[in-house]
Amino acid sequence: MTTTACCTRPTAGTAEPIEAPHGLRPEQLAQQILDGHRLHADEALALLRSPDADTFTLVAAASRLRHHHRGTQVKLNYLVSLKTGLCPEDCTYCSQRLGTDAQILKYTWLKPEQAVEQAGHGVAAGARRVCLVASGTGPAERDVDRVGTIAARLKQEHPQVEVCACLGLLKENQADRLRDAGVDAYNHNLNTARSHYPEICSTHTYEDRLATIGRAVDAGLSPCSGLIVGMGETDEQLVEALFALRELDADSVPVNFLMPFDGTPLAGRWELTPLACLRILAVARMTCPDKEIRIAAGREMHLRSLQAVALQVADSLFLGDYLTSEGQGAQDDLTMIRDAGFTVVGAQVPDSRSDSPTTRRRGAGTEAAPNA
Ligand code: SF4
Repeated sequence: MTTTACCTRPTAGTAEPIEAPHGLRPEQLAQQILDGHRLHADEALALLRSPDADTFTLVAAASRLRHHHRGTQVKLNYLVSLKTGLCPEDCTYCSQRLGTDAQILKYTWLKPEQAVEQAGHGVAAGARRVCLVASGTGPAERDVDRVGTIAARLKQEHPQVEVCACLGLLKENQADRLRDAGVDAYNHNLNTARSHYPEICSTHTYEDRLATIGRAVDAGLSPCSGLIVGMGETDEQLVEALFALRELDADSVPVNFLMPFDGTPLAGRWELTPLACLRILAVARMTCPDKEIRIAAGREMHLRSLQAVALQVADSLFLGDYLTSEGQGAQDDLTMIRDAGFTVVGAQVPDSRSDSPTTRRRGAGTEAAPNA
């Protein structure tokens, strides 16, 4: 395995080698994209491999596209895990795969009233979209009925909210039934490049995933499909995956950063840096300039103090907790969004300033331990 000079991402792999052009200027490229240019693979690769010192130049360029297409808005999404754990699939990145000893919550289907009550917390905090997620290969017919009931009740209580379902692989007509029940969108991530897919899952295929997204699109559901980065994919494979998402024309593109749970095959894998995450988000924006680019799971542990900078290129994030891990406090997210000069779609974010500094009671002149 070889690594690039600018980050720890591996570059050797099975994807087609791409020659990166030299002297690429991100700001010129952003202007060309605004004028109708579609990013080429060699350009995407060069941007992805920008040195750390040039990352903020790249962010500034991608930010022009973000502001042109999405303004200052940030869309908040709220996950409700309807059923967690004990999945028969073997996705290597997933803490819910069968046989894992990841110490996560495991439970079967929430009752509709429990799901609606959970969703209400996110809606009250400003979420515009509720994502109803269930572990498993795909829904049985009665599961589609369950989710349909929840979606209908959610729409009744919160008519302004979009409902997205994420239930795994769909069979014939299931997407139509979800749509008829009031579901607006369907999430099914491509996760990684076709050329990398056999490395991360053996129980279903990349083509299975494409077929499900196709069913959702055919039913008129808004397609939501994205990535998990940091799973050993090469830079070329990351470009391959981003370009596949562009071809899919998904309305929203969640970018997840691998959370390497103990008890999963990818435990201990750590390939990302905060600056590398920014570059990936910026290249996602330049590849899919007018789409909802969503910062998804893993942002807290991988972007860390640069989360607010990531909002310069991404226009969407999950509020609250993820499926099996806890997220940053919702109030902290709202403060971050407001402080960075953004607005929340469909919600007012109150100013959370504190009026007086905290008086020092530790360190020099006290018996208490200092702050550092
Ligand atoms: S199908 Fe979904 S829940 Fe099951 S192991 Fe894969 S990612 Fe996890």
